[in-house]
Amino acid sequence: MELIDSFDRKIEYVRLSVTDRCNLRCFYCLPRGKRSFQPREDCLSYEEIERLIAAFAELGVSRVRLTGGEPLLRKDLPVLIRKLDRIPGITDLSLSTNAALLKDTAVSLRDAGVRRINVSLDTLSPGKFTRITGGQLGPVLDGLMAAKAAGLSPIKLNVLALRGINDDEFEDIALFCLEHGFTLRFIETMPVGSGGRKAAEHYLDLREVEDLLAARFDLVSSDMTGGGPARYVRVRDSNLHIGFITPISRHFCANCNRVRLSVDGTLYPCLGQEHHHPLRQLLREGISDATLKNIIVETIQRKPQKHEFREKPWQVIRFMSATGG
Ligand code: SF4
Repeated sequence: MELIDSFDRKIEYVRLSVTDRCNLRCFYCLPRGKRSFQPREDCLSYEEIERLIAAFAELGVSRVRLTGGEPLLRKDLPVLIRKLDRIPGITDLSLSTNAALLKDTAVSLRDAGVRRINVSLDTLSPGKFTRITGGQLGPVLDGLMAAKAAGLSPIKLNVLALRGINDDEFEDIALFCLEHGFTLRFIETMPVGSGGRKAAEHYLDLREVEDLLAARFDLVSSDMTGGGPARYVRVRDSNLHIGFITPISRHFCANCNRVRLSVDGTLYPCLGQEHHHPLRQLLREGISDATLKNIIVETIQRKPQKHEFREKPWQVIRFMSATGG
């Protein structure tokens, strides 16, 4: 089976938010004072998530990324990972984390079936880290080193490019990745939620970042691929791959291959639009697998062509933590 939308795009990738809670408060995602989150009874159980992902797999989905909020906050996450890893057709299981809880969980994640991880880290400066996230840098660096020691690979560092905040560090972050064998990716800010619109004040076109890095490093073409929209270059005579994720300056919607599932069981066909379809109640009312798959197919048929971040920056109300990036 293949999930093809009305723009002839094959949907093979589900980004699954297993919690909307987080142990950090990045200003571009969650407001510092936010305390209200999805009530536990409205969060999908691991059995419900397994059933949903199995339906997607039967429809041709092969990649699942666990996101949040912060997914490592979800209790017994390796139990869910083992369930998803056993689903026929799911060949790529990965995780996005802020790494603050990774030091004590990296090995159990690996043993459960996670093969590769993305870590969000916008700065190597402890003071700046606290200003951006409200948290401490130390545990994040410990988490990264634990993931490296556990053999998770690749480890990709996601850096949100913020003009006037971290654009004086890109060279140092690149050297940090070079030293530790991490892959580096820069991401442009997106007006998702009030935090995203605040971050847009620090928008930085990644062409400027690429020029800046090209002035310091000898950049050559890269053969690195991934399930996502990043375009990569490599530093000559090294294994440092640098990726650029450019939803604003050069969007990649024409090749979109993904949808998002939030912790309360809502299917979001597009990060940049508010279109959604709640699935939890249907599951709890005993919907059949056949009907569930039909609803997924119909929802994918209504997947929007692209985001309208430039045209309608106010449009996406939900916080980024509701669906994960
Ligand atoms: S904005 Fe929507 S259509 Fe564009 S790449 Fe993201 S999810 Fe796909």
